[in-house]
Order: sequence, then structure tokens, then C-alpha cells
Amino acid sequence: MTTSSLNGESIVFFNGELVAERDAGIPIRDRGFIYGDAVFDATRTFNGKTFRLREHINRLYNSLRYLRIDPGMTPDEMERWSLAVVNHNYPLLPAGQDMWVMQRISRGVETTEPGSVMRPTVLIESHAIPFARRASLYREGVSVVTPSVPRIPPRFVSPRAKTHNYLNLVMGDLEVQDTDPNAWAVLLDESGNLTEGRGSNIFLVKNGKVATPQGRFVLEGITRGVVMELAAGLDLPMEETDLDLFDAYTADEAFLTSTSLCICPISQVNGARVGDGSVPGPITRQLMAAFSDLAGMDYVGQYLAHLPE
Ligand code: PLP
Repeated sequence: MTTSSLNGESIVFFNGELVAERDAGIPIRDRGFIYGDAVFDATRTFNGKTFRLREHINRLYNSLRYLRIDPGMTPDEMERWSLAVVNHNYPLLPAGQDMWVMQRISRGVETTEPGSVMRPTVLIESHAIPFARRASLYREGVSVVTPSVPRIPPRFVSPRAKTHNYLNLVMGDLEVQDTDPNAWAVLLDESGNLTEGRGSNIFLVKNGKVATPQGRFVLEGITRGVVMELAAGLDLPMEETDLDLFDAYTADEAFLTSTSLCICPISQVNGARVGDGSVPGPITRQLMAAFSDLAGMDYVGQYLAHLPE
């Protein structure tokens, strides 16, 4: 099918071809659905251009190798099909919008037929980033809460792989949002060190030094890596280290990073105001500005433009 026959309709790449999004469906016995036996990654666009797509695809292939799934496609092909989905779907978005493009690969459809071979299910889809829902975070900052549920230890399932099994992080969110629907969960590990949230890494700033939990204990966010590069470019000392609630409560500044949030200031942790309450603090502000320069657009302005009048 050519994409021109799908003018005006969102498309996805599904098992080898581009099809209308409404025509793609995951079979009921797909192992991604029945066991969470799948991996994914998500890149965002800035003004329709993907950012660090190849790095996301490299991470996707590491997740695939960790789960021993062969997608039957090279990283180059994955990149090309991802761009085909973006190039078709981006013009369908309203002005001022941008989107995620996500690759999702499961081990395939469970079968009981003797001798049958399982083939991976490969889906590449895109959807709009919810700017309006998140815009106020850039004015007021994120309220972070650490739930009682700990992050699963890395030797059980490595957090460095981005798999479809997010239940541990979802449980953290549920607990936190039952108390405060607007709070974002960041899970502690079993020793009480900060780890990450369902979709974000955390950073603290203290006495001019930027710090984030070690890469072995979290998904090594692409944005986290970008922040490290930006910190180096701005001559800001930066370390990966254990950080606990003492560090969080005594930090001067704190922020979350993720593909869609980019860098978003944190205003409080478990109800304790971060630093002097400036949102963002001076170093976070510097990093946010450097991020916008790198992305080639004012991403904060894009969020704030979605605030209600
Ligand atoms: N941690 C988890 C568990 C995630 O799912 C994500 C999102 O992908 C992140 C951190 C942030 O990573 P990135 O900056 O690549 O979006």
C-alpha cells in the first residue's frame, strides 16, 4: 500500500507494511499482550523533526538483545520506517503540535501448533504529545512523591531495558495519585535511593553540582544523556551517584527529564519545597535554555502556549 492512498489518515508500520492506523490490531494471543513480553522506545519530534532517533533505536536494539527478540529488521530499516510514519502523520497534527514516534516489538503470537515458529510483531506508531495536560508543570513545577513501593532491583529485571512490563512503575503512580492526582511518582530502591518515574529520570542540583542516579539502576534516558552533554558544555560539574531523600530535601534545585518533558523543574518532593522555591532554579533554567537551543525550538514556549487563556 502506498501512503498517498492514505491521505488524511494516520498510518502505522505493522509487520512489514504501512497501513491505516485504524486497520492495525494486535492478535489476542500476542505475547506482548499476554505476558508483557515486548520492548519499545519513543522518540519525539520538534517542529516535525525527530530528535536523536538513532540513539533511541540503538537503545531499542539493546532492549531487544536483552530479551533475546530478533525483530527481523536492521536498525537502518527501523529508522527508515519510523521516519516514513512521522513524515506521513506529522502534517495531520494541528499547528503547534508535535508527537512521539514509538517502535513496539513483541516476541510474537503464542502458538500451540507443533513446529510453528513465532515471528515478532513489529509496530511503529505515532501520537500527539499531551502539551495542554502538562503545560502548567512549566509554570508551577512538578510535585514529586516517592511511593512506598520500591523499584524492582536490577538483578530481577534490568531497568536499562525498556520493556512492556511497567507494572512496578504503574503501582508507584497509582499509590501516589490516590493521594495527589497531580503528583509524579519517583520510586526509591530497596536502600532508599532515588531511581526514576514511569517515563522520567530525576536530577538534583546542590552547590552548583548536578547529580543523577547511576545508570545501572535506571533506564538510561536519552534526555538524561543530553543533559550530561549540556552540563559538560556549560562547565557544570556533573555526577552519577546514589541520591537519597536527604539529598532531595536539601537540594537547591531538582528536575525531571524525559523525551517529551525534555527538562521540567520540580517544585517539591514529598511536600518539601525544593530550594528557595524558584521554578526553575538558575542552573535548571540554564540547562533548559541550552536544551531548547539544541532542539532548535523553544520547547517550554510550546508547552506554555497550551495553557488555558
Ligand atoms: N525512565 C523510564 C522508566 C522511562 O520509561 C523513560 C522514558 O523513556 C525515561 C526514564 C526517560 O528516558 P528518555 O529521556 O529516553 O525518554
